[in-house]
Amino acid sequence: MITFLSGGTGTPKLLRGVQELLDEREIGVVVNTADDMWLSGNHLSPDVDTVMYLFAELLDTSRWWGIRDDTCITHDFLQTLGVDEFITVGDRDRAVHVARGEMLRGGMTLTEATKVLCRRLDVSATVLPMTDTAVTTFVQTGMGPMHFQEYWVRHRGAVAITGVTRECREPPAATEEVLAAIEGSDAVVIGPSNPVTSISPILECAGVRDALRRQCVIAISPFIGDAPVSGPAAALMRAFGREPTSLGTYQMYRDILDIFVQDVRDPVEIEGALRLDTLMVNRGKSVDLARDVLSLIYGR
Ligand code: GDP
Repeated sequence: MITFLSGGTGTPKLLRGVQELLDEREIGVVVNTADDMWLSGNHLSPDVDTVMYLFAELLDTSRWWGIRDDTCITHDFLQTLGVDEFITVGDRDRAVHVARGEMLRGGMTLTEATKVLCRRLDVSATVLPMTDTAVTTFVQTGMGPMHFQEYWVRHRGAVAITGVTRECREPPAATEEVLAAIEGSDAVVIGPSNPVTSISPILECAGVRDALRRQCVIAISPFIGDAPVSGPAAALMRAFGREPTSLGTYQMYRDILDIFVQDVRDPVEIEGALRLDTLMVNRGKSVDLARDVLSLIYGR
């Protein structure tokens, strides 16, 4: 088994390739939950949903979120009723949020609810929320602290940010399932996800860094030069006090890393880093990178 640490875009692109090469039951994914939120009474777990939909073959891979060919009838009618949801939630996607919200209100943990949803959606990969403790990423702005989803979805990242914080009632701890997956794997892969909003929240869960130190860990950079392949990672890295490059990424992970992978086009030099083509512009490129990563682990 290989365990991946994932957000909702870069690592799922890699998983799209891995799923073609490995039996899904050999794939574990520890997923960021610090972007989670309640919306209109329902529970959104955007990164968990993306990973779950990928394995369920439902994912809209033109956006890397939501369900392919979903409709927005409920969202549109809610607007008519004066409910202005800032995320356009599709109808079937919403059904998942309703089901999860009901399960959580009924006393299930997020891990249990995810397990049920995966079973119902015929997902045989192991999809694990990083923690069952509610923790949320906020960015600091001139308008005050803002939920990361508000910053990125409502404001499209067009707001200056000066800091990034995690808000929680109690410090998040990794679940037993997460620690067992890390420990029971042949290797752990930190995919090319946002280091600040997707990977750091996982690494901050109590127990994760220690478990990773005992494992073979490979990380793939989401940066080429001083720009991420997509998304707001550069502004977030700066606000987090890190250089928005592969070097800044490497510095965040180096205490737990065995192999650091940079793109072949990346002008930033990091001693000892491995160079691969990491640009997953289509399914074939995802499979190529997945094959390269698997051969690092299994030597074939
Ligand atoms: P989020 O939850 O939607 O923010 O998604 P992630 O954190 O999983 O992924 C976002 C990161 O993926 C961004 O920083 C991108 O630079 C990176 N990314 C997206 N596509 C690729 C790709 O094809 N190759 C690499 N190396 N990084 C990518």
